[in-house]
Amino acid sequence: MKKYDYLIVGAGLFGSIFAYEANKRGKKVLVIDKREHIGGNVYCEKIEDINVHKYGAHIFHTSNIEVWKYINQFCEFNNYINSPIAKYKNEIYNLPFNMNTFNKLWGVISPREAKEKIKNQVIESGIKEAKNLEEQAISLVGKDIYEKLIKGYTEKQWGRSAKELPTFIIKRLPVRFTYDNNYFNDRYQGIPLGGYNVIFEKMLKNVELKLGIDFFENREELEKKADKIVFTGMIDQFYNYKYGILEYRSLRFESEVLNEENYQGNAVINYNEREIPYTRIIEHKHFEFGNQNKTVITREYPVEWKQGDEPYYPVNDEKNNRLYEKYKALTENESKIIFGGRLADYKYYDMHNVIAEALKKVKKEFGE
Ligand SMILES: Cc1cc2nc3c(=O)[nH]c(=O)nc-3n(C[C@H](O)[C@H](O)[C@H](O)COP(=O)(O)OP(=O)(O)OC[C@H]3O[C@@H](n4cnc5c(N)ncnc54)[C@H](O)[C@@H]3O)c2cc1C
Repeated sequence: MKKYDYLIVGAGLFGSIFAYEANKRGKKVLVIDKREHIGGNVYCEKIEDINVHKYGAHIFHTSNIEVWKYINQFCEFNNYINSPIAKYKNEIYNLPFNMNTFNKLWGVISPREAKEKIKNQVIESGIKEAKNLEEQAISLVGKDIYEKLIKGYTEKQWGRSAKELPTFIIKRLPVRFTYDNNYFNDRYQGIPLGGYNVIFEKMLKNVELKLGIDFFENREELEKKADKIVFTGMIDQFYNYKYGILEYRSLRFESEVLNEENYQGNAVINYNEREIPYTRIIEHKHFEFGNQNKTVITREYPVEWKQGDEPYYPVNDEKNNRLYEKYKALTENESKIIFGGRLADYKYYDMHNVIAEALKKVKKEFGE
């Protein structure tokens, strides 16, 4: 007799939902995480009474009513709308690319004028078949938007020139011909009242939890404890990197407490010129309309990933995807292990995608 029905590796969104649902069905569950906190990358650290998004800014958005209803049982959301701003040299532009952006760039007023401007720049470029990201972007939106709002940001993000980057990174560029600065097209959007940790505290309230435990450092002993394992860590590590290492892009965050009430007037400001090494500054209090006396800002620096660094963004190019498929084939022979979440699936998932995936796996496991 094993002590637990499920050992859940990872107290992030996927692991916590699975734990909550299994516990609800009377299963005995143990959740472990190698970090000292729950919530995975969604976790917030309280600094100066401000919820600081420790692993990057997180804005919840979805059009999936089931997902929205599901998450709302754990918290209420505020009415935050993500309207990031782009700073290029000393110019400020609204994002996503919309009529406000076009008006600032060219002084155009009507959608017809804006469309004409873009169309002419695309024609002027003469690009028929884009061979790299630079050509791809110019062939979609013309040179002005590319040079001010895409080039520097993308080059910083990927750590190389846009001319050396493949076209697949930018399949399309959303351009909106209305005066609408709402970044997302989704029906539901917001930040949980009281911060994201509230969700995880509720999900894991009745579940046994051990923090600061790395599955791989205690694998043999942990595997004996449970009938089944839910694994949300890195898939290549699970199989001891037998086919090779899956690559990621990483980030470095530098946070600062400032003795002023309002530093930049918006939660998210992108820094688009190449010369500034960070891609954006987050001022966390604006996610929750905070009016504390102080403020906390975080500069976000993209960095090359090497083994041991935080794996933030999977590099879903052909080479890595092929490698992932080999690992995935191994998972199909496992009857006692359930894989899920961004690291096990080697996929960039937004939170709503993870919730939908977790609920799918829950349904498959418990058959309802
Ligand atoms: C910079 C950034 C910004 C983002 N912004 C948004 C946003 O605005 N909106 C949005 O919807 N989504 C956003 N996301 C995506 C969001 O973070 C993910 O969808 C979500 O965190 C994934 O949950 P998960 O459970 O799959 O993974 P994780 O949150 O990574 O959880 C996995 C957990 O497993 C633990 N773990 C891993 N290996 C082991 C091991 N060997 N032993 C023990 N524990 C282990 C980890 O410590 C971690 O806590 C963003 C992601 C990033 C990187």
